[in-house]
Amino acid sequence: MATSKSYDYIIVGGGSAGCVLANRLSADPSVRVLLLEAGGSDWHPLFRMPAGFAKMTKGVASWGWSTVPQKHLNGRVVWYTQAKIVGGGSTINAQLYTRGNAKDYDAWASDAGCAGWSYKDVLPYFKRSEDNQRYVNAYHSYGGPLGVSYPVNPLPISHAFIRAAQEAGIPFNDDFNGAVQDGIGHYQLSTRNAERSSAASAFLKPAMARKNLTVRLNAQTLRLEIERGRATGVVVASGDGLETIKADREVIVTCGAIGSPRLLQLSGVGPADVLKSAGVEVKHDLPGVGSNLQDHLDLYAISECTGDYTYDRVAQFHRTVWAGAQYLMFKTGPVSSTLFETGGFWYADKNARSPDIQFHLGLGSGIEAGVAHMKNPGVTLNSAFLRPKSRGTVRLASADPKAAPLIDPNYWAEPYDRECALKGLRWAREILRQPALKPYVLAERLPGDNLTTDRDLLEYAYRSCKTDHHPAGTCAMGTGPDAVLSPDLKVRGIDGLRVADASAMPFVPSCNTNAPTMMVAEKAADLILRKSPLGWTSLSS
Ligand SMILES: Cc1cc2nc3c(=O)[nH]c(=O)nc-3n(C[C@H](O)[C@H](O)[C@H](O)COP(=O)(O)OP(=O)(O)OC[C@H]3O[C@@H](n4cnc5c(N)ncnc54)[C@H](O)[C@@H]3O)c2cc1C
Repeated sequence: MATSKSYDYIIVGGGSAGCVLANRLSADPSVRVLLLEAGGSDWHPLFRMPAGFAKMTKGVASWGWSTVPQKHLNGRVVWYTQAKIVGGGSTINAQLYTRGNAKDYDAWASDAGCAGWSYKDVLPYFKRSEDNQRYVNAYHSYGGPLGVSYPVNPLPISHAFIRAAQEAGIPFNDDFNGAVQDGIGHYQLSTRNAERSSAASAFLKPAMARKNLTVRLNAQTLRLEIERGRATGVVVASGDGLETIKADREVIVTCGAIGSPRLLQLSGVGPADVLKSAGVEVKHDLPGVGSNLQDHLDLYAISECTGDYTYDRVAQFHRTVWAGAQYLMFKTGPVSSTLFETGGFWYADKNARSPDIQFHLGLGSGIEAGVAHMKNPGVTLNSAFLRPKSRGTVRLASADPKAAPLIDPNYWAEPYDRECALKGLRWAREILRQPALKPYVLAERLPGDNLTTDRDLLEYAYRSCKTDHHPAGTCAMGTGPDAVLSPDLKVRGIDGLRVADASAMPFVPSCNTNAPTMMVAEKAADLILRKSPLGWTSLSS
């Protein structure tokens, strides 16, 4: 096995967090940074087009994993898209830009003991990333690397949906990332000039010319080198064969909420019994690695439209050609839509501390893998319960780094999660039945008007539920006995090693998880470079 040159920092995993870190760390010209990504390049135009998302949950640029049979979902195996491409999830996601609720981060600080991660502490890091098209105020900023915009040309049915939700009793909100999260409206999107703003395009590409940054794609890290309690480097498989690369200062793991605990376990860091049964030599018994998996499970209603009001018919050849031309010439039309650009946050549990369900209006049917496609144009309304009490695991199936991990979100292990999810589904159906949508919506096709009891809906949910692709928490920071990381993201018991991605979150935030993951990486960069925390501007200013 060859030993290559060494770097100060090796970042393993070039996804949402890894690209942010590669940019921020290499901004210091005195440090040498290596970014390793198992997936390939994002050169294909589909990754730049907002509507390219329609292809992204169907196996493109992903690891091809599924969950283990879900005990509390009648044994369902859930298809589980995880990105394998530079930019990671941010290159294949639906581009919804949401931050969650201030109370999410306050709970990281108060309930998980993560000093320095309250809302007041993290808001400046959200703002540092941001190049907001519309807002500059206490919550928003412009001039950062990440484009944040409103939908280019929302369809009339989206506006009708916003009115329908108000008829159902949910107020309008034009900024879920501002003072109030509650309500319905258009989402902000991680797009700029009608193109996806991924971590790769926003953070990595502008840094590529730096001499102190090396980026290697199609390079899977098989394990971390750990010597006498310190991470000294990585073992990588690439087209050049196997090699060991040394890190003089730190290895930073950003392989995502499934990939990071997987890599730690492959390196002998994790629960000793799990490692032994997978045939991995135990380097450090750390029981929390791969536990605490949290995810948002999605249920949906699909209605048939009274006419051609969504993008379902764009797949017809002549319309595809016109849509392509419209996009190329004017940057408008169906291709400029992320297909999920409207929705909001509301309550399944009336006593919840902040909204606990999220809606995504899908401008068609069958947009995501496994979701039914209607013969006539349809419209989809997803609802996801946001603060599950259930906790799952990520475990090795074997010591083979090529083997898929055992992903067990353990959905609905807690009956409360199921109850709230079904209430969310009922809200979705209710909104689709409001007068404002009558000109657009002919009839509910899924679950179908004839399914009304909780039992009916449960059976429907078992058949149709899907992940919202928000795994988090599997190398959680905190101060409790199961915390894997200290609040400065260092792996407990191993020197020179941090984890800084969605797996570091102690609780999944009440939203889509890309912006929160980038925030974690922004703050990680300052922790690693020992910069003082960014200051907080008073919210009343
Ligand atoms: C289909 C889909 C839709 C989504 N929609 C939205 C949305 O609309 N809005 C939103 O906010 N969030 C969305 N999310 C979630 C969001 O994108 C993720 O939370 C976020 O990308 C997680 O970032 P991460 O850095 O933790 O992991 P990732 O972005 O997944 O990055 C991990 C990277 O590490 C690489 N890697 C893994 N193991 C190794 C290894 N051993 N060696 C080298 N490289 C490795 C992977 O290939 C990957 O590129 C979506 C996610 C998916 C998958």
